[in-house]
Amino acid sequence: MSFENVNVKPEIVSALKKIGIETPTPIQEKSIPLIHSGKDVVGISNTGSGKTAAFGVPMLQHIQKKGKIQALVMAPTRELVVQIAKELEKFSKNLNLFIATVYGGVGFDPQVKNLAKADIVVSTPGRMLDHIEHNTINLTQLTCFVLDEADKMVEMGFIEDITRILDHTPKNKQMLLFGATISDEINRIKADYMTNPETIEADVYVKQELLEQYYYNVKPHEKFSLLCHLLRKEETHGVIIFCSTRATVELISKNLKTQNIKNDMIHGKLTQNRRLKVIEAFNKEKVNVLVASSVAARGLHIDHVSHVFNYDLSRDPEEYIHRIGRTARAGQRGKAITLLSQKDYPSFDEINSRFNVSIEKLPPEQFERLRFDMKSGQQRRGHFNNRSFGGPRGHGRSHHSQRQGSSHGRSRFGGQKKSSFGFNDIHTR
Ligand code: ADP
Ligand code: MG
Repeated sequence: MSFENVNVKPEIVSALKKIGIETPTPIQEKSIPLIHSGKDVVGISNTGSGKTAAFGVPMLQHIQKKGKIQALVMAPTRELVVQIAKELEKFSKNLNLFIATVYGGVGFDPQVKNLAKADIVVSTPGRMLDHIEHNTINLTQLTCFVLDEADKMVEMGFIEDITRILDHTPKNKQMLLFGATISDEINRIKADYMTNPETIEADVYVKQELLEQYYYNVKPHEKFSLLCHLLRKEETHGVIIFCSTRATVELISKNLKTQNIKNDMIHGKLTQNRRLKVIEAFNKEKVNVLVASSVAARGLHIDHVSHVFNYDLSRDPEEYIHRIGRTARAGQRGKAITLLSQKDYPSFDEINSRFNVSIEKLPPEQFERLRFDMKSGQQRRGHFNNRSFGGPRGHGRSHHSQRQGSSHGRSRFGGQKKSSFGFNDIHTR
């Protein structure tokens, strides 16, 4: 199966080839013919399955260079807008179209100038409404409206904005809605704004044979030590450590630094600029370890992740699927390792019962107990997260015996292997 097979025009096929996109993913294979045929489409598939091209490629094919806005793509965050626009630019490299981005937090007037000559606009909801209210955008020539990350739009409370924007667009247009999951709100949009939509679902799970999923049973106060031990033991090429709260993200990031494990963090309270920079540094392999809260990382284009660690589990079992979907992409192998303690059991049970996943238990590891500073910020009163070595029954062996013992991870972690703190067994707070 190739893009020619689904009637993508040569200019686009060659541009795709240049960036290594040669075989359509399942969602692309399904969506492209439908979108070509002019149908309204709801496309559901997991993160990393290639949804941008699934709507972008067929959409681009029907746009002409005329300096009138023919397509509007809505995304929930500025990062996503930038990312989608960049992808579309790559896909349309040989088409010479003008793609404008619109989002808040930056000047209004430059956007107005760009809007006046745009063929395609990628936008967040808030700023789009501003332009509509100020009459600084002309949507009369619009033929295609795309709602990307529809589920996140719902999550972030943007659905009303979206319907308001839709009310300002021509009735007779193609509507495409893409996301990782579908909810009642999305169904409402489908019912109110789409004409005989066709729903396609594809590749809901990461390829099981490429993704190995494991868990360790670990006491909460030993999690950090086990994490460091695994980071040093595993051979990693890009690691994301997911935590369910921002506070945990900050603490883990800080404590990893104390252990000389170089890392960046990303969570919802960081400015968008900062988040973009962090992702860029990670994608350029300047940093090997990213500590992230799930929502902050959702939908962002993150490359080459060999390992996903779940430091804890989110209460939403579906989150697990999103998280592990960050690795084992594009034919690469990946590992997802969950550090499981009592608090995570309910989510874990639900994940196992609701999804077709096989998460294998690994025997306890023997690891050094490390000091864990529970205080965020500058204060440094000790709290020691470990009181004993390893698991209750001593010397665990990973299923990957070939990787045992020898490898201590890539040197992107930076030099020092062991903690400079001594062992401690007393809580000071
Ligand atoms: P989603 O929106 O579903 O999360 P993206 O559209 O962001 O996924 O695509 C994820 C990654 O996969 C991107 O780096 C993209 O360039 C790449 N990709 C998309 N389609 C293909 C394909 N057919 N073959 C190889 N890589 C692809
Ligand atoms: Mg996407």
